[in-house]
Amino acid sequence: MRASITRSFLLLFAFAMVFMAVSDHLNNTTVQADMSAPAADPNPLLANWEGPYGGVPPFDRVQITLFKPALEDAMTEQLAETDRIAKNPAPPTFENTIAAGELTGRTLDRVTTIYGVWAGTMSGPEFQKVQREVAPKLAAFNDKIYQNEALFKRIEAVYNSPAKQKLTPEQQRLTWLYYTNFVRAGARLNSDAKARLSQINQKLAGLYTKFGQNVLAEEDGQFVLLKSEADLAGLPQSVRDAAAAAAITKKQPAGTGAISNTRSSVDPFLTYSARRDLREQVWRMFVNRGDNGDEHDNNATITEILQLRAERAKLLGFPTHAHWRLENAMAKTPERAMQLMLAVWKPAVTRVHEEVGDMQRLADKEGANLKIEPWDYRYYAEKVRKEKFDLDQNEVKPYLQLEKLREGIFWVAGELFNFNFTPATNVPVAHPDIRVWEVTDKTSKKHIGLWYFDPYARAGKRSGAWMNAYRSQERVNGEVTTIVSNNANFVKGKPGEPLLISWDDASTMFHEFGHALHGLNSNVTYPSLSGTAVARDYVEFPSQLMEHWLSTPEVLNRFAVHYQTGKPIPQTLVDRIKKSATFNQGFITVEYLAAALVDMKLHLAGDQKIDPDKFEKDTLAELGMPHEIVMRHRTPQFLHVFGSDGYSAGYYSYLWADVITADAFGAFVEGGGPYDKKVAEHLRKNIFSVGNTIDPAEAYRNFRGREPKVEALMKKRGFTS
Ligand SMILES: [Zn+2]
Repeated sequence: MRASITRSFLLLFAFAMVFMAVSDHLNNTTVQADMSAPAADPNPLLANWEGPYGGVPPFDRVQITLFKPALEDAMTEQLAETDRIAKNPAPPTFENTIAAGELTGRTLDRVTTIYGVWAGTMSGPEFQKVQREVAPKLAAFNDKIYQNEALFKRIEAVYNSPAKQKLTPEQQRLTWLYYTNFVRAGARLNSDAKARLSQINQKLAGLYTKFGQNVLAEEDGQFVLLKSEADLAGLPQSVRDAAAAAAITKKQPAGTGAISNTRSSVDPFLTYSARRDLREQVWRMFVNRGDNGDEHDNNATITEILQLRAERAKLLGFPTHAHWRLENAMAKTPERAMQLMLAVWKPAVTRVHEEVGDMQRLADKEGANLKIEPWDYRYYAEKVRKEKFDLDQNEVKPYLQLEKLREGIFWVAGELFNFNFTPATNVPVAHPDIRVWEVTDKTSKKHIGLWYFDPYARAGKRSGAWMNAYRSQERVNGEVTTIVSNNANFVKGKPGEPLLISWDDASTMFHEFGHALHGLNSNVTYPSLSGTAVARDYVEFPSQLMEHWLSTPEVLNRFAVHYQTGKPIPQTLVDRIKKSATFNQGFITVEYLAAALVDMKLHLAGDQKIDPDKFEKDTLAELGMPHEIVMRHRTPQFLHVFGSDGYSAGYYSYLWADVITADAFGAFVEGGGPYDKKVAEHLRKNIFSVGNTIDPAEAYRNFRGREPKVEALMKKRGFTS
């Protein structure tokens, strides 16, 4: 079982991250009043969300030409709103400053939500042109708010006022968050420094867009064509079907297959293809995304991003970008994050050498006459898995039907959180493949929220799997319920046949659903503190925790049923899966950690002019990177880090959160097992419902009664004897 630390990211888009804090949120009735002279043809993206469930996103009314004017109008509106708060003649109070801030920007919130869905899942040349134009404007807008001196003075006054002690803990936390975010964004700088900061942010926004579009161009544009039966050697039927479907999409001759330049196509090919030459070709295509020395090459963009980030950190009074980024995270300092990474790195590398040893022996026994190279790793790992554990992933796959597993995660959510899911067919979607469910409380039947599911790959959709929050739960001005989506890139198989997925993909499904449950369980007052709006190195904890429920007998017996016979997965097979739980953990940990370490070191390097390829190579050599493995995301395609500020100096977060995850699952093990209602209620109360209303370290102590310990993680990955 994969620890699946890396397959997801929560929020892809810079603006979505950026806006969390100052957020937004204007009283909707005020918007209406202010806009009482409607244009002849109002932009539907600006309107309140209408329809059932307290309103839903109008995905059916989107035209790309609407985005730019809608964003511009919405930004203007929010600037006016924040200006009114800043110029309020009344002395600053929590209500007229902080709480009032929570009510601003509601229109922009709605527009950017839909804009984000298009950026991530419905992109194309026309949309990308809009993106290039508006990204710097959104950055400038953000700075205008953070650099509003009168506004900051009011926030500072509330923060320093003795009256703060009388506020509720959530209100105090929100005040702290506003104050900290403003300071971190440069509110205290002089006007020259502020101007430069704003310039940097706008430049960065443009570079992030360029970086992402370059990666997407190479993912959409490149593929390896399989022309004959010989090119398909070793591939199971599901991979053959997917390749045939991809060839049709890519307008290739009938009878051929295409391996797209995305992880969901590449990984299965590398696992099964018996054609070493083609494995190498596919592998090279994939790991060189953004690094081909052509018009989509990202190296120069990275150098510029790193220099601008270093300059920005200095302006803000931090030694490096990493120090600035981690100040507000659970880890607090890059040193603490590095310490954890290096502690896990050594045993993981040792394990890789053992894994390679096993693979080499097997290859030698077969008379393959080769030395294990990176394009051989998955292929021989799979063979070793078969030999050592008598476990073939293809033996497992017929039991893993996408839709059955979706029912499985619904069932788990019912057991742990008392949720019920019913299809909601009266809700507009961005693409016909997307389906929606209403979430209610099983007992009270109360509406909890909506869950959108967008499972299939398509052109214009970025690769990977992620959760996106369309609307956060809050009650600052009446009850607002959660709307979230889970997105994946499963390759559609044959029409009419159930889509079978791998164990890894099933685990990723549970992971992303964990993010969704974090949003759906939210029970807070203020939207800026809602659901998944928590520290970066904490946000993966609820999602990683949910992965543990996939392998529970309750889920496997009921939902891992054979797609033809309907029989549940045999116990002997489950036992073999469990026995192989720590198999290949050396590879999984090292490919992830190498990326996390390079990310951190790039951002600790200061303002030197970095050649990304050289830096990556030198850093990995220094770390003793096994040559049989490549970073999970090489620098020129590292969207987590260069597609936005997102996970920059923050890719370590998956490991940090996994320490907490492994430790937290122990509470169930020590209790009555994974479905212990008491522990689940404790989990909901202290972790899943509190959002960012409480310091995460404190929330965890409330749940577990102590600090997290690293031992559970080491054991989970098989790094302790
Ligand atoms: Zn995640």
